[in-house]
Amino acid sequence: MKKILLIATGGTIASGHTDKGLAPRIEAGELLGYVAEYTEFCQVEVVQPFSLDSTNVYARHWLELAGLIEARYGEYDGFVICHGTDTMAFTAAALSYLIQNSGKPIVITGSQKPIDLPVTDARTNLLDGLRFASQEKAHGVNIVFGGNVIAGTRAKKEHSKRYDAFSSINYPNVAVIRDGKVIFYIDDKDRIAAPVSFYHEMNDKVLLLKLMPGMDGTALKHLFPYYDGVVIEAFGVGGLPEYGEVSFFTEIRRWTSAGRLVMMATQVTHEGSDMEVYQVGRAIKEAFRLMEAYDMTLEATVAKVMWVLGQTRDPGEFRSLFYRTVNRDLLLVPESVSEPL
Ligand code: ASP
Repeated sequence: MKKILLIATGGTIASGHTDKGLAPRIEAGELLGYVAEYTEFCQVEVVQPFSLDSTNVYARHWLELAGLIEARYGEYDGFVICHGTDTMAFTAAALSYLIQNSGKPIVITGSQKPIDLPVTDARTNLLDGLRFASQEKAHGVNIVFGGNVIAGTRAKKEHSKRYDAFSSINYPNVAVIRDGKVIFYIDDKDRIAAPVSFYHEMNDKVLLLKLMPGMDGTALKHLFPYYDGVVIEAFGVGGLPEYGEVSFFTEIRRWTSAGRLVMMATQVTHEGSDMEVYQVGRAIKEAFRLMEAYDMTLEATVAKVMWVLGQTRDPGEFRSLFYRTVNRDLLLVPESVSEPL
């Protein structure tokens, strides 16, 4: 029987009503009490590193979770993290970079409704998470939610209320779980080429800036003292406006010549960026050899920039690390752009 560590961190799944609104209050052991069927296929031990609405979860907690899994990696066959849904996609992406090539499954799950309600998705999700983590073929970081198993770098919360809140973006589901049966669409555990590696640094001085009509480089100018990297969510396949008193061109020169990172991405959810299509993208990309996120999700792009900036500030090393595919995050990168400077 597989031995699983359940890591409870709060979220709606563990929440109850207070006079100020829903807040986490159900402890790890109590969560397990709602899904007694798990004893048919696994043994579970529990730990509760923190108990937060995931609105309050950030890089410090991602490092804490990765550190906890590293410390106890040898003792368990798999890990299931119960987590709030609001920032779950960021946590899943961050853990995908902090724990690479894991032959053991690291599952993140949660729910839209608290586990102690009579009608809830929580019991199914938790049981599905434990079930998936007990599969021989399961590996790496995945979200299990609403019957879908989604690679940790590919998830996006697309619905604020629906039970199947998460979609897999620009990539198929790794598996689905129907009536307690796991159906693998991707069965590739035998292709893990390296031993598991854990990382201990992230640089969270990174900003995600959403472009809107009328915006010029003023925001970048004012933000310059505070951040080591910025991810710009451009329109469509990617480009930057050419109007305004403070030009993007000038500000991007300021950032890049000071060794700060400017990463281009798109605010369109599906199909990714391709800055070389239009003049508004190609000219500025070529001028500064800007990097772009291609088919990566915004959540994965932000987490990867934080992870890579935590490993190196050398632009050439940054480029080759960023463009290396990790946990299925990036498929579309042309070979020529991943070459170091
Ligand atoms: N606000 C909650 C959280 O992210 C929402 C949820 O878990 O569904 O912790």
